[in-house]
Amino acid sequence: MGDEFDEVLTRTAEIAVDWLDGLDRRPVGETVTLAELRERLGLPLPDEPVHPLTVIEELARAAEPGLVAIPSGRYFGFVIGGGLPAAVAADWLTTVWDQNAGLYACGPAASVAEEVAGEWLRDLFGFPAGSSYAFVPGCQTAHLTCLAAARHAMLRRAGWNVEEDGLAGAPRLRIVVSARRHATIDRALRLLGFGTSTLTVVPADGPGRMDVAALREVLADRVPAIVCAQAGEVNTGAFDDLTAIADLTEAAGAWLHIDGAFGLWVLASPALRHLAAGAERADSWALDAHKWLNVPYDSGIAFCAHPEPHRAAVSVTADYLVQGGEGDPRDPIDWTPGFSRRARGFPVYAALRSLGRRGLADLVQRCCAHARTFAEGLAGLRGCEVIGEVVINQVLFRFGDDATTDRVLRHVVDSGEAWLSGTTAGGRRAIRLSVCNWRTGEEDVRRTLAAFRQAVDASGTPPSRAGPPPSGRLPR
Ligand SMILES: *Cc1c(COP(=O)(O)O)cnc(C)c1O
Repeated sequence: MGDEFDEVLTRTAEIAVDWLDGLDRRPVGETVTLAELRERLGLPLPDEPVHPLTVIEELARAAEPGLVAIPSGRYFGFVIGGGLPAAVAADWLTTVWDQNAGLYACGPAASVAEEVAGEWLRDLFGFPAGSSYAFVPGCQTAHLTCLAAARHAMLRRAGWNVEEDGLAGAPRLRIVVSARRHATIDRALRLLGFGTSTLTVVPADGPGRMDVAALREVLADRVPAIVCAQAGEVNTGAFDDLTAIADLTEAAGAWLHIDGAFGLWVLASPALRHLAAGAERADSWALDAHKWLNVPYDSGIAFCAHPEPHRAAVSVTADYLVQGGEGDPRDPIDWTPGFSRRARGFPVYAALRSLGRRGLADLVQRCCAHARTFAEGLAGLRGCEVIGEVVINQVLFRFGDDATTDRVLRHVVDSGEAWLSGTTAGGRRAIRLSVCNWRTGEEDVRRTLAAFRQAVDASGTPPSRAGPPPSGRLPR
């Protein structure tokens, strides 16, 4: 048994190290088309077994050109973290150990690692003592978990048991969201029976911050409400005014949920913590470890200031399960919507321990400093408009008109020097750049700026800002 694993795992480690070693030499994006990938991977299902070593070597060879170098320091797409060495290694062990981290009985160490990592994080973020938590696949599921707790608590207060009686005939709840909420908020609410057209949408300003005066009006009639605020808008990184929002939700007796997928990690940085001031007053928080903590996919965390509704909303039991017991062990199925589940606490534990408080603060601050360097460098490029301020690690910019912006972006991605994606800001095309990886260094920033400079030269962008205006509107 050991021998069979020995050969294939040793070879797999070599392949893994080769991949990581090659990141600086290979293009960041994929180098094959969809059709080619289908051809490379689309073998007939064999009738007979294939040796594991052959399977792995051929899989790696076939897939490699179709991989995106997300662990590279020059991947700036969406908001996607890298993987810290300790977290990647712990994730391997998680696979090999193969614990079913639903029950303490199926993985005692997995349960305790989650307990420790959950407590470390609670302390790091300054959330109330006694807050409950769940290690989930991502922020999407964290929203689902937190908002299920919110739904339970708010209806319970109105004398309704939603787990028993469902939503038909339930007292009215007002669900309040920002115009610039992340799409995962809508989906979590939808899955919980709150249809999208029933949401009360509060307007937001240019960077995406919820209009607090409008929220005050919405909450004035004191209909029981769940308010979804945001720490880190996905394009701009902007933070809602969480102190002002917490004042309003506390006064109105509403539940405050915060989407802090990446933004809430600023709480780990003494220099940036002020951006999320007031966050600790919320009732629930959703965030990702696979973004700024640089834990491999998939890894999100739900926190809830009120363990009872959290547990009541998602816990499950069955005659054959072994739950609780001497010493009050923690069974993750009481807190997550998952049943059988991966032991997600191990890589989070390893990431936090390998960084320490200082290392995590440095990681967050370093990414933000690189984002500022990008903004300065980009602003010096011909025709480039950096949109709004760099709040944390996100930079939003464009090059004159939509077509030019898309052309410059295409050129940079095609060069293989960096990977980024476009978006629409204020009705016009823009490029978004997110620095979220521990590996990104000054040389990566320099190489990426050089690629943009070349793209601008190559794509016939408007003449310098001092020169005549291009056709179409000149930025700003
Ligand atoms: C990424 C993100 C999400 C969704 O997180 P997943 O981990 O992909 O489920 C939600 N909100 C914000 C602000 C995000 O950036």
